[in-house]
Amino acid sequence: MEQGNQKIDCMSQDQLKELQLKLFNQQLKRAGETKSYHGKLPNEIANLSEVKNLPFTTKEDLRQNFPYGFLAVPQEKIARFNASSGTTGIPTLAYFTQTDLSFLDKRSKEQSLAAGVKEGDIIQCMMGYGLFTGAWYHVRGIQNIATIIPTGACGTAKQILLFNSLRPKVVFSTPGYLQYFLTQLSDEDVKKMALKIAIVGGEPVSQYFKKIAKEKYGVDVYDSYGLTETGGPFAFDCERHEGLHLFEDQFYVEIIDPDTGLLVPDGEYGELVVTPLRQEAFPVIRYRTRDITRIIPGQCLCGRTYRRIEPITHRIDDMMIINGVNVFPSQIEECIYKHVSTATNYLVHVTEKEGLKKLLIDVELPIELLDNSDKLKKLEKELLDTMKAYITVTPKLNFVPLGTLPEIQGKAKRVTKDY
Ligand SMILES: [Zn+2]
Repeated sequence: MEQGNQKIDCMSQDQLKELQLKLFNQQLKRAGETKSYHGKLPNEIANLSEVKNLPFTTKEDLRQNFPYGFLAVPQEKIARFNASSGTTGIPTLAYFTQTDLSFLDKRSKEQSLAAGVKEGDIIQCMMGYGLFTGAWYHVRGIQNIATIIPTGACGTAKQILLFNSLRPKVVFSTPGYLQYFLTQLSDEDVKKMALKIAIVGGEPVSQYFKKIAKEKYGVDVYDSYGLTETGGPFAFDCERHEGLHLFEDQFYVEIIDPDTGLLVPDGEYGELVVTPLRQEAFPVIRYRTRDITRIIPGQCLCGRTYRRIEPITHRIDDMMIINGVNVFPSQIEECIYKHVSTATNYLVHVTEKEGLKKLLIDVELPIELLDNSDKLKKLEKELLDTMKAYITVTPKLNFVPLGTLPEIQGKAKRVTKDY
């Protein structure tokens, strides 16, 4: 390991547990100051094993207590608001003091350095600014040593013009937009580009896409995970790409059975529950992320002792139930990238006829492939066989030329319900 905080991310798990207990108790005190938690939490726990007895906090709780129900400091101490959008129209709001932001910056810097970002590198930030945490988080931590092009969500034509002219080595993006962006570059653009590193976050990314980005475009994709509701990212990819390290000196992570709420043993899959340990303004306790992952047993070969989680591929809320079978968009993406060797864009339509649900998937392909009916037939058969084996549902496929599907801005909308 070349960079990073040697003292903290290489401390033993015992030392870490001691620190976490101290910080957890500090958070319980802060949480007790908020309107939502007042009188509902113990003042202190004697051991981290008691955390499992504390109540959960859900996105719904945050919505119902909008806007200030979880605020633990006087309003004038808030340095910044962030929010995540939802389907109901009421956003979930997070607040940060200057001290909170300094911890965000520390994580962001450490994660950029772990991805190989170096002093003086040019970075194009294609994440949208505004209420979303992503762009602010990734840029602030590294802006003092790197050169930032804050394109935000400026439209793909301008994105490409600046990308080709200023030649960034690094991009920050949602994975959906990165996939879309790569489909919009010409072969010549790809040949000439300086891009080597992409740090992505905000939505799941498939391992297959990471592989294609590396093999076809020479771009190392580093995953970043966290939610606005948890005060931003708290897990990051190191150079080994063998799971996402948790910033355990700042967050306490549990994996539960989403049905029973009970802890599952290390190594088993379940819903990720997180408690930020150093947030002054927004001390949320045991937040249920609705994301499925597991703790990866053992220590990473990079030398960091922060434990790792499997990159998130399944979000409980994205699940489609097709005639009794659970299907996630990320599974469809994996099937596509198993057989399509270039960045692509796709859209899943769920239709219903006489009580039966069906899937129709639009997949964008290069025109050379669409014009070659033998290759196209072969691809269709391979894709359908894989999907039947993997998701046990046989969809209808509709191949369209690159650029046909709606342009992606920020997070990709992969599923539409046409009923
Ligand atoms: Zn590692």
